[in-house]
Amino acid sequence: MVADGLFELHGDEPRLIGTRCAACGTVYFPQAPSCRNPDCREKTVERAVLPTRGVLVSYTVQRYQPPALFRIDDWQPYAIGLVDLGDGLEVMGLLSGFALDGIAIGTRVRLVAESLYADAERGPVLTYKFAREIDA
Ligand SMILES: [Zn+2]
Repeated sequence: MVADGLFELHGDEPRLIGTRCAACGTVYFPQAPSCRNPDCREKTVERAVLPTRGVLVSYTVQRYQPPALFRIDDWQPYAIGLVDLGDGLEVMGLLSGFALDGIAIGTRVRLVAESLYADAERGPVLTYKFAREIDA
């Protein structure tokens, strides 16, 4: 995985791992060491598995290749979305399967895991992305 602690796999299904404040219920992603709510006194946080479905509330298209530090095989322009997972929690993530000129705010999306690049030693490095929700 691209970074430890961001998400875990249940079979093929990724689940984002965040933090929930035991006192005020505020949810953080990525995980936070303590609650950042200034009105919260307790600040004791616990691990939280986040919802896998949400709504696209904003996005940006990256048209220039970032520095080599950020590796993606077969680089091409891509979109990063901001997804509302409910309870006021908004998470950034790469969008998967969208035409870059066909992205619409309000689209229902779900979490997927995809290979970001293949590492010679570690094999495929997975990241989480948001793909269009397929209506059953
Ligand atoms: Zn709190």
